[in-house]
Amino acid sequence: MKQTVQMQKAQGQMTPGVITRDGFLGDDRRLLGDILLADDAAVKALDLDHETVAARLIELRDAGMAGLGEFIDVAPHFEVRVDSVRGRLPCPFGDPGIFPKTNVTVRNRKTGREATYTDLHIHLILAHGFYEGRGCPFRLEPKDLAEVLEIA
Ligand SMILES: [Zn+2]
Repeated sequence: MKQTVQMQKAQGQMTPGVITRDGFLGDDRRLLGDILLADDAAVKALDLDHETVAARLIELRDAGMAGLGEFIDVAPHFEVRVDSVRGRLPCPFGDPGIFPKTNVTVRNRKTGREATYTDLHIHLILAHGFYEGRGCPFRLEPKDLAEVLEIA
């Protein structure tokens, strides 16, 4: 994917200390356009698309809301906790609107693995196909997401 002027600007917003302390890219030195292209290919290789991934993140978040900050069981074998943290974050791509700092933790009891994501992650995946950079503590690896959340 060609690195557009908009992507260049977004990449600047993703550096540490601009929107978040750690930024969105970790130690990933690739251009944003290349990161998006690689993750798009990774998601397609799983026979998924970004909409399907985001829909699953939303589904589990919404199911977990009933736990009011504690883990609750979600069929068939998940535990989900939704924590609301004070504060809101803007999208680094410059979209209007700000996103609540909601942390969603999903444990897969069958495999013992878990994944954590936020409302901003959901937006970034749905609107931009962006999973954050390699080495970023908040990166969501598409393959891991698909396995832990059993997205099909
Ligand atoms: Zn956005």
